[in-house]
Amino acid sequence: MKNITVIGAGTMGNGIAHVFAQSGYTVALADVSQASLDKGIATIGKNLDRQVAKGSLTQEQKEATLANLTAYTSVADAAKHADLVVEAATENITLKLKIFAQLEEVCPAHTILATNTSSISITQIAAVTKRADKVIGMHFMNPVPVMKLVEVIRGYSTSQETLDLIFDLSRKLGKVPVEANDYPGFVANRILMPMINEAIETLYHGVAGVEEIDTVMMLGMSHPMGPLHLADFIGLDVVLSVCRVLHEGLGNPKYAPCPLLVNMVAAGNLGAKSGQGFYTYTPGSKDKVVSGYFL
Ligand code: NAD
Repeated sequence: MKNITVIGAGTMGNGIAHVFAQSGYTVALADVSQASLDKGIATIGKNLDRQVAKGSLTQEQKEATLANLTAYTSVADAAKHADLVVEAATENITLKLKIFAQLEEVCPAHTILATNTSSISITQIAAVTKRADKVIGMHFMNPVPVMKLVEVIRGYSTSQETLDLIFDLSRKLGKVPVEANDYPGFVANRILMPMINEAIETLYHGVAGVEEIDTVMMLGMSHPMGPLHLADFIGLDVVLSVCRVLHEGLGNPKYAPCPLLVNMVAAGNLGAKSGQGFYTYTPGSKDKVVSGYFL
């Protein structure tokens, strides 16, 4: 594996491109939006500068990393020489099926097609290709350059050879791969999202306020960030959509999203990115100012 194509230069895509380029791979980063590409490349530059300032990377290593990266606005151009494609475009099933059908056409026969999806079925994505054995979930965590875990999801038809290659590759990136089967939410979101939803239920039922719930989980359970604060960071729209995937996919009422979450999303209170969620944020910053809901 030498040539890696990353599709989508947003939050996850630029982080994924960063870690591959830093590990010596040739990376083609593709996005339909020139503005997203420019922002993604600028973010990689800033994050590399931070690593140099901390002493974890030399100036030469930073320059070598940037030299390994090329930006494309055409997925076809970016993917035609790929050994591996990691798709990290917007979480939308119609969009992902379209991208994978296109990858099937433009990629060489040996190319492995991975998706960073948080909640869409790998098996369903694989079904639009003619190489379901080479389609796999490679679920990085945010922020990608910092977080060690890669959840590797085996679709219904993913081969052992593909799984082994992705395990080996994840380790070469300095990550720790963990295998999961293709069921709604995989492992990470199957556990995380119901916990966040339960924190919202706890608030909704007036058991405790925002700060109290987050403090209990931080000081009582050693979580680095409370679940409501974390929900604001993930984006309440994203939390709601993953809760719905679990609810529909598993058919169990225990996964029903809390009505307060549904209302907050309908009101446009999406968390840090909209400036208002469970906490209020300074525009353009992720610093929380004050919690929005009290007992
Ligand atoms: P994002 O909105 O930050 O970025 C998505 C990018 O995809 C945008 O730059 C957009 O222009 C681009 N895009 C849209 N259509 C495209 C196309 N046809 N071809 C190429 N690029 C296209 O989203 P994100 O948060 O980086 O999420 C990307 C994927 O990663 C999603 O599947 C999401 O579920 C998953 N994920 C996100 C997180 C997270 O914390 N944000 C964590 C794990 C996994």
